[in-house]
Amino acid sequence: MPYEIVIGLEIHVQLNTLSKAFCADDASYGGEPNTHISVVSLGHPGTLPLPNKKQIEYATRLGLAMGCTINQSNFFDRKNYFYADLPKGYQITQDKQPICIGGGVTIKTDEGEKMIRLTRIHMEEDAGKSIHDLSPSQSFLDFNRAGVPLLEIVTEPDLRSADEAYALLTEIRRLIQWVGVSDGNMEEGSMRCDCNISIRPLGQKEYGTRCEIKNVNSIRNAKRAIEYEANRQINLLESGGEVVQQTRSYDAVNNHTNIILRDKEDAHDYRYFPEPDIPPIVIGDEELEAIRANLPKLPKDLFARFTTDMGLSDYDADILTSDKATADLFLALSQKNKNYKAAANLIINPIRSYLNEKGWESNQLDISVEKLQSFIELIESNKVSAAIAYQRIFPELPLQKDKTPLQIAEGLGLIQNADEDFLVTIVEAVIAKYPDKVAIYRKGKKGLLGFFMGEVMKASKGKAEPKATNQLLREKLG
Ligand code: ADP
Ligand code: MG
Repeated sequence: MPYEIVIGLEIHVQLNTLSKAFCADDASYGGEPNTHISVVSLGHPGTLPLPNKKQIEYATRLGLAMGCTINQSNFFDRKNYFYADLPKGYQITQDKQPICIGGGVTIKTDEGEKMIRLTRIHMEEDAGKSIHDLSPSQSFLDFNRAGVPLLEIVTEPDLRSADEAYALLTEIRRLIQWVGVSDGNMEEGSMRCDCNISIRPLGQKEYGTRCEIKNVNSIRNAKRAIEYEANRQINLLESGGEVVQQTRSYDAVNNHTNIILRDKEDAHDYRYFPEPDIPPIVIGDEELEAIRANLPKLPKDLFARFTTDMGLSDYDADILTSDKATADLFLALSQKNKNYKAAANLIINPIRSYLNEKGWESNQLDISVEKLQSFIELIESNKVSAAIAYQRIFPELPLQKDKTPLQIAEGLGLIQNADEDFLVTIVEAVIAKYPDKVAIYRKGKKGLLGFFMGEVMKASKGKAEPKATNQLLREKLG
C-alpha cells in the first residue's frame, strides 16, 4: 500500500545575544565549564529573572521575517520538571501566549514553491549540560548553557518528505542568519530540531500516530532520521503492527531511531503556569514598527529583484542570496556598475572558489569592494581577458593589497595588446606556420578561424586583444 509521510518540526534556535535570557551572564558558546554562571543561572532560591530585551527584539524580528502575527502582549510560563541540569526545577518558556503566532516559511520542492505554516515561535531558556562520558562512574554538570536564550519554532504538520524537511531547515537556517538573530551553527548546537513523524495510507484524511525524534543536531541527520523512522513505521504497519506514540532518539553513527526515550503513557505533565516573577511582555506599536523598519530586505525579495529587475538567471540569484554577506557584496558591486552579470560572475566563480579554498564564510572575504570594482572595470576595458583576469590577477588581489588590479596586470605583463604592428607580426607568423590549414580555410572551412585565434593567443601569451586579432586574421586569411 502506498503511504504518505507527515512531518512537523520543532526547531530550537540559540540566539546570539551577549547575555543570557534572564541575567547578565555571558551567553557565548563554550568557555571553561561553569565560568558563565551566577546565582541566577544556578537557580538559587530567592533570585529573580530579568528578561533580556534583545531576546524579545530578536523573537519579534524573526517573527516578522516569517510572516507571523506578533502577539504584542505575551507572557512567560514555567514548565516544571526535575533534571540535574535544571537546578530551578523548571524551565522558563512560553505556553499559552507565545510571542509569535502563525506565519510560514516557503521552500522550493520539485513541484514548485510550497509554504510550510508555522504554529508559533516562542521564547525560552536552555538548560545546562550533563556530561556522562568523561568517567565511568561519575557525571559532570556544566551550567554555562543554563539560561542561554532560545527561540522555538513549531511548524504545522505540513511537510511530506525528508527532502522537504531538509529544504525547510536549510531555509530556516538561512533566515535566522540573514536577520542576524543567530549564527545557525549546528555543530555548536545553535540550531537543534525535534522531528515529529507519522505515516498514513495515501488518500486518508486523518493523521497517523506520530513519533518524535528528539534533538537532531544537523540538517543532514534530520533527513536521515526521518527517512529511517518513516520506513520503520511503514514496515511496522505492513507487518500487521501498530505505531505507538513515542519519543525516540536518533543514532547518527548507526543510522537508526531505535532508542526509545519514553512512551506516551509516561508522558510528562509539566504543570505549566504563568511565571510569577516576570510581568507580561508588552510590545508597543512604535517599538514593533521600529523593529519592522530595521528588518533587512529578505532573500525572497532580493531573489525577485535580481531575476526580474537585474535580469539574472534563477541559478545566479539563488547563489547570490545564499547568505546575506554575499547578497550585500553583490548589491555593493552593482551600485556603481550596471553590468550586473559581470558582478554576479565574479562572485559566483573566483570569489566563491577563493572562499572555499580558505574555508571562509562570505563575510570573511578580505578583498575590498573598491578593489573588486576596479577588477571588473579592468576586464570591461578590454585590457585583459576575463579568463586571464580570473586566473592570474584575481589571486593576487588579496596578496598585493597596495596595488590596483591594473598595476597588478601591468606588473605581470598581462595587458592585452591591440597594437597593429604587434599583432601583424604574430598573425603572419601563425599563417606562415600552417600553410595546409590556411588552404583548407580558403576552400571554405571557416570554422578553422578558432584554431588560428588559439595559435595567436598562444604565441602572444594571451596578450593579443581578441577583437583586433579576430579582424586581422580574417583579413589576412582572405
Ligand atoms: P507536543 O507539544 O506534545 O509536542 P504538538 O501538538 O504541539 O505536540 O505538536 C508538536 C509537533 O508535532 C508540531 O510540529 C506538529 O506539527 C507535529 N505533529 C502533530 N501531529 C502530528 C502527526 N500526526 N504527524 C506528524 N507530525 C505531527
Ligand atoms: Mg514536542
